[in-house]
Amino acid sequence: NHQIVLDNRPKGEATAANFKLVETDIAPLQDGQVLVRHHYLSLDPYMRGRMNDSKSYAASQPLGEVMIGGTVGEVVESRHPDYAAGDQVVGMGGWQNYSVVTATQPGVLRKVDTTHVPLSAYLGAVGMPGVTAYYGLVHIIDPKPGQTVTVTAASGAVGSAYAALAKARGCRVVGIAGGPDKCRYAVEELGFDACLDYREYNQDTYALAKALKEACPDGIDGHFENVGGWIMDAVMLRANAFSRMAVCGMIAGYDGQPLSMANPALILINRMRVEGFIVSEHMQVWPAALKELGSLVASGKLRARESVAEGLSAAPEAFLGMLKGQNFGKQLVKLV
Ligand code: NDP
Repeated sequence: NHQIVLDNRPKGEATAANFKLVETDIAPLQDGQVLVRHHYLSLDPYMRGRMNDSKSYAASQPLGEVMIGGTVGEVVESRHPDYAAGDQVVGMGGWQNYSVVTATQPGVLRKVDTTHVPLSAYLGAVGMPGVTAYYGLVHIIDPKPGQTVTVTAASGAVGSAYAALAKARGCRVVGIAGGPDKCRYAVEELGFDACLDYREYNQDTYALAKALKEACPDGIDGHFENVGGWIMDAVMLRANAFSRMAVCGMIAGYDGQPLSMANPALILINRMRVEGFIVSEHMQVWPAALKELGSLVASGKLRARESVAEGLSAAPEAFLGMLKGQNFGKQLVKLV
């Protein structure tokens, strides 16, 4: 079994030298255990935080251990009565080709149906990123039909699900993303009413805020923040009175870049509700979220794009590329 372990912690920007590819034997299964062959590995921004050992909401990744990560795959051998060879499952198998899962703990391995939803989608639109969009939109922003809602990293795994969920609730939905291709795709494929390319504004908060005024003529009632920094500042300048902001991610600072808020008084001036959240702390919403996301994908209303790297050894570079926006849609690794 090939695995990628965290070899050493990044000093500033993460690099491929932080990871190491190792080979290990698979121990024989014990009662209650299941052997899963992974087909896809999910690469997610939160993994960058776990590479540090500083205080965070999530435990840091121990050195020398397999990188944590969501996986989908197939049961190849089972000593648990609920699972049989051939079952397709989603779990947290990590950056490796196979995992041995002690399936006696509830929720560690979930069987999935691929009749109408492709297996890989269970790591994206119909998985953790989709539920993330759902929680922030439905439980924090809670928009009314006709309201305008916005999102940063709009073409990504979370942003694409957000657009479909917001359209289903009758909102005007405006995205912010990096580059003309991502913005075109957001409007043409994801159903965004408009999408602004932040790169055109060269870190000029007021220029981006001006463009947002045109794209959101009635102001912004709800915002879903994935990036932080000057882009968030621009959105806050256009936020309406009593608007809500779901703070989901601050990816612009994950490699140690300083992030500040230019004008915190806007929270007061706009009487905003600003709420951060971690999707794994809200397991009660997952069943309803996955049901809605599954039907949006099955009906073709949510056509989320994927960036697929080939083979386990490609994972570190694909992960580092995603942190810089080189992914286009949900970043996966296909394990061969
Ligand atoms: P994406 O698929 O959106 O990929 C990350 C994207 O972030 C890149 O493609 C890039 O898009 C954008 N980005 C990276 N650096 C910058 C930068 N400096 N400025 C602006 N944009 C940048 O990832 P996900 O959809 O998986 O995750 C989106 C966000 O959601 C992340 O912040 C993540 O940490 C957060 N998250 C939080 C969860 C929670 O429970 N709170 C759970 C899951 C995700 P572009 O090219 O458009 O700039």
